[in-house]
Amino acid sequence: MLFEEVAFYYQKLEAVSSRLTMIDILAGMFGKAKRGEMRPLIYMTQGLLGPPFESLDLGIAEKFAQQAVAAATGFSKEEVVALSRKAGDIGSVAEELAGKTRLRRIRSEKHGISDVFGTMLKIAGTSGQGSQEAKIHLLVSLLSAASPLESRYIIRFALGKLRLGVGDATILEALSKNATGGREAKQALENAYNICGDLGKVGEILAESGVGGAAELKVSLFNPIRPALAERLPTAEEILEKMHGRCAVESKYDGLRAQVHMDRAKKKVEIFSRNLERLTPMLPDIAAAALSEINADKVIIEGEAIAYDEATGEFRPFQETIQRKRKHGIEEKSLSIPLHLFAFDLMYLDGEDYLNKPYHERRAGLESIIGKGGIILPSDRILAEKPGELEKYFEEQVGNGLEGIVAKGLDSPYVAGARKFSWIKLKRSYKGELSDTVDLVIIGYYLGRGQRAEFQFGGLLAAAYDEKKDVFESVTRIGTGFSEEQMKSFKRMLDKIKVSHKPARVDSVVVPDFWVEPTYIVEVRADEITRSPMHACGKDSSGIGYALRFPRIISDGVRKDKSAEDATTTKEIIEMFGQQRKIRVEDK
Ligand code: ATP
Repeated sequence: MLFEEVAFYYQKLEAVSSRLTMIDILAGMFGKAKRGEMRPLIYMTQGLLGPPFESLDLGIAEKFAQQAVAAATGFSKEEVVALSRKAGDIGSVAEELAGKTRLRRIRSEKHGISDVFGTMLKIAGTSGQGSQEAKIHLLVSLLSAASPLESRYIIRFALGKLRLGVGDATILEALSKNATGGREAKQALENAYNICGDLGKVGEILAESGVGGAAELKVSLFNPIRPALAERLPTAEEILEKMHGRCAVESKYDGLRAQVHMDRAKKKVEIFSRNLERLTPMLPDIAAAALSEINADKVIIEGEAIAYDEATGEFRPFQETIQRKRKHGIEEKSLSIPLHLFAFDLMYLDGEDYLNKPYHERRAGLESIIGKGGIILPSDRILAEKPGELEKYFEEQVGNGLEGIVAKGLDSPYVAGARKFSWIKLKRSYKGELSDTVDLVIIGYYLGRGQRAEFQFGGLLAAAYDEKKDVFESVTRIGTGFSEEQMKSFKRMLDKIKVSHKPARVDSVVVPDFWVEPTYIVEVRADEITRSPMHACGKDSSGIGYALRFPRIISDGVRKDKSAEDATTTKEIIEMFGQQRKIRVEDK
């Protein structure tokens, strides 16, 4: 498949305003991929060089991209810089200048998708002294033989700014459409994706072995499994009723979710985050403990990494755990804040897939392999049959500085990548406010007026995620509670992902000053959820949706452990609306 064709499809994708059209275009594009091309095609469309847990960074800065465009077209660097400043996008400048190049073009052979992807991989793999020159040279070699349209996308991809607005669910649906003409294969493909976290791999298996091949995919070490998620219910009674009168109740630790993969023979450990990124460099002590404390040869376990002071029995705030994210100073931090992994699940053990085993069996397996080193510990838990027992345990956890509890169905499998009632969370509630915070995705922002004019930032338009439709639906406008620092940093961050029109997967009646590509998640607390015609979230046939009242951001910035599709779902907002009404009625 020629990259020229890919670029043509990308151009079409950029112009669409409906997700269904997007699926048709993608399905058409996937239909053109030849053997071996599906993987690179999918990764490139995601703007990546591999699955998120392996994806390399191209390491090309804007000024080097400008240099490459200049060298490939014969224009001066100053001219390219001036034009880029005006256009705000070097991709379109590369396109324009390729169309009026001052150099003689010898376009002997056109690029295939695999050539472009291969060169991008080479660029990412070039490091050390003189690497910038080498990277530019490789980029110039691509641009010199590229059409104007190809140049647009080569440059945007190289800068990590492809932003076609295509989500994982949309790709899966398009793959299904290409394979079966409809949605018939979607569930099988989604299941495969849930256990390997790699869309390129799913696409490749589908292309080579059909839907049957994808359905047979098994858990494998070092391919992260998409995490099981918890539903919410507001009371112990309702939780036990849903669990048929009996369940396990575990402490809910407010740390960092960590999926640990270990192969003893290879002395290899990898740790993955909630959104399947590599956490291994950030958690060296947990990685070391996996080898020394887990009695197994090959294993995948999951737990919550949290700073815990053994001497005082005190759990430290989430902020302190997350400080580790700063790459520097990890050594010192490992000494000053000892991290522990409170393990709560077992997904794979010595060749055996545990995902479909019931919770009680997975838990027994987990407890049997955790040694005595003390860094990795099983999560604390009880078995509850009466609401009073669950309630008392919950109060104890909150008293210990924890977030609350997660109740787990004793016979339930591990439901990868889905929010199901096999896990139900109950968190500390705040009187008079919504009992839980929500994680919303930013879809736009406003310019500041009055006092805020100097920051050119006046607030955010935020959305929930409708999983079924794969669409981000506006749910609130957040206009208060920002510090000066936050305003500056949001403005800086959002300017980089500004888009000229409403993204195809965004549904919103409200129009912000600027739309942005749904990327960043903020944690928000609100006073209540109300019905409102202003917001698209969960809107019914008369156009009335749900909205958050008096929203404010409660974290310092964005939640880096979540991707746009991990936002609180529309379904959750509607459930929370129902629970809030119930609590009010009970309060009376
Ligand atoms: P939250 O912001 O409430 O943590 P979330 O969307 O990140 O929500 P949920 O699926 O709603 O995730 O809640 C489960 C989360 O709680 C897990 O992602 C995990 O990080 C954390 N957790 C802490 N302790 C446990 C436990 N014992 N069992 C399962 N999850 C736990």
